[in-house]
Amino acid sequence: MRVLLAEDDDGVAGALTEALYDNGHVPARVRRGEDVLARHRQADLLLLDLGLPDLDGLEVLRKLRAVSALPVVVLTARGDERSVVRGLRLGADDYLVKPVRLAELLARIEAVTRRVTTPAAPAARTVRVADVEVDLDARRVTVGGAEVRLTTKEFEVLAALAARAGTAVSRQQLMDEVWGDAFLAVSRSLDVHLTQVRAKLGRPEVLTTIRGFGYRFGD
Ligand code: CA
Repeated sequence: MRVLLAEDDDGVAGALTEALYDNGHVPARVRRGEDVLARHRQADLLLLDLGLPDLDGLEVLRKLRAVSALPVVVLTARGDERSVVRGLRLGADDYLVKPVRLAELLARIEAVTRRVTTPAAPAARTVRVADVEVDLDARRVTVGGAEVRLTTKEFEVLAALAARAGTAVSRQQLMDEVWGDAFLAVSRSLDVHLTQVRAKLGRPEVLTTIRGFGYRFGD
């Protein structure tokens, strides 16, 4: 996991970097709050010290939360209740007070990651665009209430798009999902299946081709 470590103390940063690295993570260390805001997109988790030289860590957290749901573990010398509560309220996923035991820190990082990556209970798995309805669980497609029969692959192509309705899905990703391997899949067959799905739905406007990228179901 890519761990962004925001820590201005070289000694602490060195020890943490080593421990993270030894446990299979890929640490990247920054010293300032501004660096966190500039680099958070390249990380899977942020370990955040609060006493940073430029911005207060809680301010960094507040700014980060305005744009990102990145898992954050605060690691700080500030153990007073008020700081802990503020940190958690501002969106920290966990809060540890220094000095921290390394094994505990690593276990907490794992726990936070587990929570974040556990998928929530699936919501309604029926996607509707115009009068086209795709029931992802029942594998049924209806247009204007009438069932449309698709082949297995045709349905899978449509389902892969419907599961992300309104979002552009790349050809690579579609081939990966439907054929299991984008490199082995024949790019042509994706086009053939999409042409078939379009023809069967009779609603060309619900399936948009995004030139040079992929396709989108719905707007
Ligand atoms: Ca510090």
